[in-house]
Amino acid sequence: MRLDRFLSETTDLTRSLAKRALKNGEVEINGLPAKQPALHIDPDSDRITWQGEVLALVGLRYLMLHKPAGVECTARRGLYPRAIDLIDLPNADRLQPVGRLDVDTTGLLLMSDDGHWAHRIMSPKHLCAKVYLATLAEPWEGERAKSAIKEVAEGVLLDGEEDVTKPAILEMLSPTQAKLTLTEGRYHQVKRMFAALGNHVEQLHRHSIGAIVLDDDLPPGEWRELSAEEVALF
Ligand code: URA
Repeated sequence: MRLDRFLSETTDLTRSLAKRALKNGEVEINGLPAKQPALHIDPDSDRITWQGEVLALVGLRYLMLHKPAGVECTARRGLYPRAIDLIDLPNADRLQPVGRLDVDTTGLLLMSDDGHWAHRIMSPKHLCAKVYLATLAEPWEGERAKSAIKEVAEGVLLDGEEDVTKPAILEMLSPTQAKLTLTEGRYHQVKRMFAALGNHVEQLHRHSIGAIVLDDDLPPGEWRELSAEEVALF
């Protein structure tokens, strides 16, 4: 592998900054300064340092972020900070959110640079259950709660769509606290389902995706790597 490519994969250095670091003698291969960007190195056997720090290629990365409100799940820079801006890893912009949460939705966001893994989670074929906790504007009790649970189980027709939603599970934890388990991911699905049923979601939080549950002790804005067992769940 070329030295400049190795540097761009293991640090946040741009091509021109990497060149400058090489020129300044900040990069060493096996203890000797290296100056040529085109030099071929062996990432497995050469010891490469930049400013004294050993560099290593990382494999595919998988992590969970506790997404706070006011953060966007897009790659483009826009009005709000992006989820990837919260990930303090080299080349964090190579990570993709696995499915999007609205800017005001909080909770579990999986991120990875493994497109096949993300696809297995997102693909409608895999029926991966996502659990949301919604705070509702209108309290639902008694018969109203029962009929909403039935409608959600049978499928709800969303505004502007032709097919009802797949059977889903609604549990009322209190008159205004709903737990909704979905196996599909249509645009703004949770908010639109409650709107179709005559309610309004005031707050939305994603609790889990399949068997991966957001850690109770992971504060909003923080992230952690997934364990090998968690990655292997999908
Ligand atoms: N459904 C929504 O309406 N919003 C989200 O952020 C996620 C699911």
